[in-house]
Amino acid sequence: PRPDATLAPTDPLQILQSVFGYAAYRGPQAEIVERVVAGGDALVLMPTGGGKSLCYQVPAIARHRAGRGVTVVVSPLIALMHDQVGALEEAGVHASFLNSTLDLPDVQRIEREMMSGRLVLLYVAPERLTTPRMLAQLDSLAERRLLSLFAIDEAHCVSQWGHDFRADYLGLSVLHERFPAVPRIALTATADEHTRADIIERLQLEDARLFISSFDRPNIRYRVVEKDDPRRQLLRFLREEHEGAAGIVYCQSRKKVDETAAWLETEGIAALPYHAGLDSGVRQKHQDRFLREDGIVMVATIAFGMGIDKPDVRFVAHLDLPKNIESYYQETGRAGRDGEPAEAWMAYGLADVVNQRRMIDDGESGEEFKRLQRAKLDALLALAEATDCRRVRLLGYFGESSTACGNCDNCLEPPATWDGTEAAQKLLSCILRFQRHDQGPRAFGAGHLIDVLRGKRSDKVAQYGHERLSTFAVGADLDESRWRAVLRQLVALGCVMTEGEYQTLVLTDGARAVLKGELSLQLRVPNVAPRGGKTGRTT
Ligand code: ADP
Ligand code: ZN
Repeated sequence: PRPDATLAPTDPLQILQSVFGYAAYRGPQAEIVERVVAGGDALVLMPTGGGKSLCYQVPAIARHRAGRGVTVVVSPLIALMHDQVGALEEAGVHASFLNSTLDLPDVQRIEREMMSGRLVLLYVAPERLTTPRMLAQLDSLAERRLLSLFAIDEAHCVSQWGHDFRADYLGLSVLHERFPAVPRIALTATADEHTRADIIERLQLEDARLFISSFDRPNIRYRVVEKDDPRRQLLRFLREEHEGAAGIVYCQSRKKVDETAAWLETEGIAALPYHAGLDSGVRQKHQDRFLREDGIVMVATIAFGMGIDKPDVRFVAHLDLPKNIESYYQETGRAGRDGEPAEAWMAYGLADVVNQRRMIDDGESGEEFKRLQRAKLDALLALAEATDCRRVRLLGYFGESSTACGNCDNCLEPPATWDGTEAAQKLLSCILRFQRHDQGPRAFGAGHLIDVLRGKRSDKVAQYGHERLSTFAVGADLDESRWRAVLRQLVALGCVMTEGEYQTLVLTDGARAVLKGELSLQLRVPNVAPRGGKTGRTT
């Protein structure tokens, strides 16, 4: 006898209500469920928190009740598998996972449940799914028509263009080849057009119907501030705008996480560090406190956040520039899942641009991949430098057009802009003069460059005779912060590069267009608040 004969309803909406306790579908869930229940393929692009899980869980249950057997869910995140299976079992749905944390008797028990077709959902990691043993088991299930559906979560992992490529995902192309009759649903929260095309091609989802939800998170206010004194800026942000609220502060390095958390602690803020260098016990403890207690500020590297579902995160702050827009979107997307106002705040400066460029240049990856990474960084830099609506830019990156949002810094306080074209030309010619100057070194860093432009007679200027350069003091009319903004923008645009240990400045081919007046630069007027006391300036 088929192991499906129950009196439970097979109607998906009734399943949504009776099993999950939700009154209605959200957004495009209804259409997706309908498609998948009927056995069609689907590719679902839905932002984090949009409700992707139900898009395959409801069909899995409906199809199981109709006698079609087991749904196999591919997921790269063990922690997530654990949570989902726990929640499903609690709702009375027979679900399990297979991963490296289980011992042999457990594995064997779960395999028996699967092979009998009793199991409704089985979660597996991609590397496990593509083992000969697992594939043979799936063959047997498929022959007995007890293999109902494949759900491929985090499908962007199949793309190198995506931000977390996993080679194991490439093996998933076997699913279509080996089980052509079994429908597949692939889901992801991050897919620009490029990634989308990769997913379709590599998973052979040409026949899949595409479901794209809006990526807009209207309750998140986006804000980018120019780095001046980042710690103080962060502290002001926390104290004046998010006192006592739970939030995440992202830093690039483990060291900076530790230092920032410790410092916030001395300032009386309940901050905890989190990064992969900490003991797993400590990490777990900090994560638990963040989830359970109110008002904890988690200072973390990007190791923190995947699969964390805390609804009332009121802010996500970036002390360092993320890698690209996908990362920025995903990280900031952890704020405001409850729909209440939340804030994405980022401090951004010249050093960020330089660091990110250098990390790409020094990376291990091949030239083609580096080119991709650079293009993606450029898109993020354009977002950071934008003087118009940030949301329009952000959504535009994901292929969505929108109008000015009224809930980002640029919409709320349109920045004053100035025409920096002439200043940019002066700056570039000054670097050119360095390169052509026949005495001493030919390359200098930002500090010296700005001294020369502003006509400051420093020791170094005297040492190299730079007061004789034709560009000496041509920019005395602009203050240092303006010059830094011009330089940052030029680095962001790829007209200037930094090289070597001393981060000396060199022109690239891109500089020509600006020098020839083919490209004009609209810059924001720096709104750097006056600083009290002497603090280290970081840009
Ligand atoms: P994603 O995987 O897209 O990040 P989840 O599947 O984890 O999102 O869903 C996010 C939250 O929304 C969960 O708490 C889930 O229970 C809830 N949710 C999903 N669909 C619905 C719905 N139709 N009605 C009410 N809540 C829903
Ligand atoms: Zn806006």
